[in-house]
Amino acid sequence: MTVAQKTLTPDVNGPDIGATTRGLYINGSWWPAYSNQQIDVIDPSTGKRIAAVADATVEDARACIDAAAAAGPAWRATPPRKRSEILRRCFELMIERSEMLATLISMENGKALRDARGEVAYAAEFFRWNAEEAVRISGEFGIAPSGTNRIIVDYQPIGICLLITPWNFPAAMATRKIAPALAAGCTVILKPASETPLTAYALASIYEEAGLPSGVVNVLTTSNPGPITAAILADPRVRKLSFTGSTGVGRLLLGEAAKHVISSSMELGGNAPFVVFDDADLEAALDGAMIAKMRNAGEACTAANRFYVQSGIYDSFAEGLTRRMAALKVGRGVDEQTECGPMITRKAVEKIDRLVQDSIIKGARALCGGEMSAGSGFFYPPTVLVDVPDTCEMAREEIFGPVAPLYRFETEEEAVSWANNTEYGLAAYVYTRDLARGLRVSSGIEAGMIALNRGLVSDPAAPFGGVKQSGLGREGGQHHGIAEFMEAKYIATSF
Ligand code: NAP
Repeated sequence: MTVAQKTLTPDVNGPDIGATTRGLYINGSWWPAYSNQQIDVIDPSTGKRIAAVADATVEDARACIDAAAAAGPAWRATPPRKRSEILRRCFELMIERSEMLATLISMENGKALRDARGEVAYAAEFFRWNAEEAVRISGEFGIAPSGTNRIIVDYQPIGICLLITPWNFPAAMATRKIAPALAAGCTVILKPASETPLTAYALASIYEEAGLPSGVVNVLTTSNPGPITAAILADPRVRKLSFTGSTGVGRLLLGEAAKHVISSSMELGGNAPFVVFDDADLEAALDGAMIAKMRNAGEACTAANRFYVQSGIYDSFAEGLTRRMAALKVGRGVDEQTECGPMITRKAVEKIDRLVQDSIIKGARALCGGEMSAGSGFFYPPTVLVDVPDTCEMAREEIFGPVAPLYRFETEEEAVSWANNTEYGLAAYVYTRDLARGLRVSSGIEAGMIALNRGLVSDPAAPFGGVKQSGLGREGGQHHGIAEFMEAKYIATSF
């Protein structure tokens, strides 16, 4: 392979973004794909092409594995303090470049700049947190119950990791995996979503500048993810799959990983209930609802997907939510005033509209929004639906858009049982002034994460992940995130 140096830093503010082409990032250099093909990157606010990236083949994937394998021994032998300092530097550089990164995220993903800024801060935090955790990895030592030997447990890096991320948080979903993997001493191959590859490549430049040795992180983009990830997982040097994305693709990948008995972590889809009891602080519940529903314009796995509101507060909650949703400024992500940007693709808009129309046919009423927007960008208006029957499709499917369906409940038992009436179990929200009830309901809801009287649950310092069809394993948290990238080695010895 001959090195072809591509444009390294897209000038995201400049008019020449359309000419920017990014190569694959392999072994610390920028390469064209063997195919010489490219993937267009589209600005969802306009529907227009803004850049292109290399479209990797299986040969490119092998080059990534070779690079990760060559870099592995030295990286795993690098003192934790040194690894920690590089991670810390990644954090600092991300914060220094946060405006550039936020603009890039906003351009390729469409999210409002304010959301993109929030994402950069969240994404950078995974480096800071794991820089701190990198020097706190410890083992175990004990005596066997028989008294005949000692038990030493040493935690070792698992090896080469394949990391696959979605488009909805192009920076945070990547750093949530890369930072703990590097802290553990692993080398990685990142495959970002083809809709949002520019952020992943911009971050790769930052890792390099932070002093990360060549080959420790490799990034490849492809329009053909099935065969390429299958080829990577078939290579016996690869020992870990960490995936964030839809449950359907997660199931396919688990099948692929099973063939080669590869350790797998899965962060999958959600269908979060947002439960509001009569005694809730109405204004606080409305504030929380706007965050839980509208962060990223609803394109979040943790997004509130079903609002269960008790009868006594239902009308005032519906009226307050409608007022707030209807007042949101919809527009291009990069416009400073925008509060709700476009959806990722036209197909995503059509899916949202299909779900909304299905609910209306079955008896729901739109208090605001409810109809697809015309124009070249991929917009859907903030929508509040009331009298939504639980037979509608959106009660079971992720809406992934700015639509809030309200369902009415009477009793606590009803609320918990309806909240659990889904194959998913990622996040849930509960609003009540009665702390005992809040804790009881939190305990009864089948979800990996509960926000009690809060609209936001994500925190790098807390274990993020779901139960049921929402996933396997946890990211972030005190030891959870790093543990996913380590193997326990037990040594029996006598003295
Ligand atoms: P997706 O379609 O499952 O794609 C996710 C990633 O998988 C992308 O990089 C995609 O590549 C790749 N992919 C698609 N088909 C593949 C295949 N056959 N083999 C290997 N890789 C494949 O999900 P998405 O639409 O990007 O993201 C939205 C979903 O992610 C939602 O369900 C959301 O709930 C979930 N999500 C979960 C979490 C969490 O932490 N639990 C966080 C964020 C999002 P291409 O882009 O090239 O297709």
